[in-house]
Amino acid sequence: SETIERHEFGAEVGRLLDLVVHALYSDREIFLRELVANAADAMDRRRFEALTSASSALPPDAKVRITPAKEGRTLTISDAGIGMAKEDLASSLGTIARSGTRAFSQSLEAAKAEDRPSLIGQFGVGFYSAFMVADRVTVTSRKVGADEAWTWASEGQGSYTLEPAERVEPGTDIVLHLKDDADEYLEPYRLDHLVRKWADFITVPVAIVNEGKEEAANQGTALWRKPKSEITEEQYAEFYRSVGMNFDKPWATLHWRAEGQLDFAALLFVPGMKPFQPIENERQSKVRLHVRRMFITDEAELLPPWLRFVQGVVDTEDLPLNVSREMLQSTPALAKIRKAVTGRVVSELTARSKKNEDYESFWENFGPVLKEGIYEDFERRSEIAPLLRFRSSAVEGWTSFAEYISRMKDGQEAIYYLVADDVEALKSSAQLEGFRARGLEVLLLSDHVDAFWPEQLGSFEDKKLTSVTKGNLDLSKFAPEGGEAEPAEGIDAFVAAVKTALAEEVSDVRVTDRLVDSAVVLSAGGGPDLQMQRLLRRAGR
Ligand code: ADP
Repeated sequence: SETIERHEFGAEVGRLLDLVVHALYSDREIFLRELVANAADAMDRRRFEALTSASSALPPDAKVRITPAKEGRTLTISDAGIGMAKEDLASSLGTIARSGTRAFSQSLEAAKAEDRPSLIGQFGVGFYSAFMVADRVTVTSRKVGADEAWTWASEGQGSYTLEPAERVEPGTDIVLHLKDDADEYLEPYRLDHLVRKWADFITVPVAIVNEGKEEAANQGTALWRKPKSEITEEQYAEFYRSVGMNFDKPWATLHWRAEGQLDFAALLFVPGMKPFQPIENERQSKVRLHVRRMFITDEAELLPPWLRFVQGVVDTEDLPLNVSREMLQSTPALAKIRKAVTGRVVSELTARSKKNEDYESFWENFGPVLKEGIYEDFERRSEIAPLLRFRSSAVEGWTSFAEYISRMKDGQEAIYYLVADDVEALKSSAQLEGFRARGLEVLLLSDHVDAFWPEQLGSFEDKKLTSVTKGNLDLSKFAPEGGEAEPAEGIDAFVAAVKTALAEEVSDVRVTDRLVDSAVVLSAGGGPDLQMQRLLRRAGR
């Protein structure tokens, strides 16, 4: 008919569909997790938005309903969520907004087979997994506040159609026309099993409609509210997987309950590996805030940005259920919870660093993020500094400030460091020669943030952090191996000539006792350290 509009998928989507359908075929049951999670998110969003706008509230019996129909070989997933307008259907289901096929396919190739399913969730391409089991998918949706509904339909082959539809209430129906080999997803017991496996932690009720009767499928157990002794390791692992689309083992699991002045339960994880999406791109903590079990938002910034790798849930009794965005910024209860939760994470890191329980793998994954705390969080700075680990000119592997200090030479007052873009460049840097010759250890820093924090921290246990590129360092206290070199004959005239030749380029030319093999080295004058100067130049200042 004339009202049907046909649109081509973005080129990216076509390739992505192909990837998802073929690469993940053996795990295709995860389509149900993805679609149920989307439905539950849409309902959470509707509930949250109804608090602050006049839009219609979530009906009290709202559920995600999963309805298999053997006659027509369809499986329908319905929700009473926020819904999608015509433009939303086109933009959310017809293009790839955020990550793009290339990054996804690269990660997919790099990942082990068993790790692949979680990539779908991490890259926000879950909807397309429907095409693993269906050869045609229709999505009929009515957005909250809109008076029209639309149907999006596609066979997953390059194009989709949009046409006007009927739907009485806001929400979304996703109808999967199942492939010939996907009969199992018409069986209520099989669907029930899958929902229990994948969606048990979703706090929105999920029902399977079996011959007209609704059967509750998920328990909505708020695992974090249970006492530790009642939770098995497997349950923790399942929850960890569901909360961050993870597949590894958490490096740390923190589960505790605060009672008294503050009343909250928290279940947090430090992942055992880096996420595929570079964490540098994210800025904010995504720890979920619940109030009396109900999911409120993952934008409450329950942890500071330098702990944004931590995942999990904080559930409190101290806020009203209808907490608004404004309240999230300003309520004193939330500020106290943030402080308590941050303190608990820091003390766990401190304890694990002292016992050295696999601390280095944590450091390699998230150390660069943690270091941001030195310049961002004045109050916590002194707690963060002992957690830092470094490469060094004197030892293999990682070392700490405390270990460095224990190796300092008699009379040494400063902690020396050198910053550059990579550790190999650092190891062969001429800047180190004089220090090596005198047996002075230098910390070698090569993370992006390393140009910033040492000056901010200033010192550790009264030992001043000192960049070896500073021109005015006096090393005369320490005798070099092989004795002091005699100044070469005619050196003064030579220095004067170089100074004249480079008058426009450098502020001074000096004889130095800091070199052994190299003839010259650049050093910083009284201003910023050399790496900082490089960064400022790159930034055009
Ligand atoms: P992700 O959920 O990770 O963003 P998806 O491919 O699963 O990626 O979904 C893309 C987008 O489509 C979602 O972000 C959401 O905006 C929209 N969407 C999907 N399913 C629904 C639904 N049932 N109700 C409302 N919006 C939905």
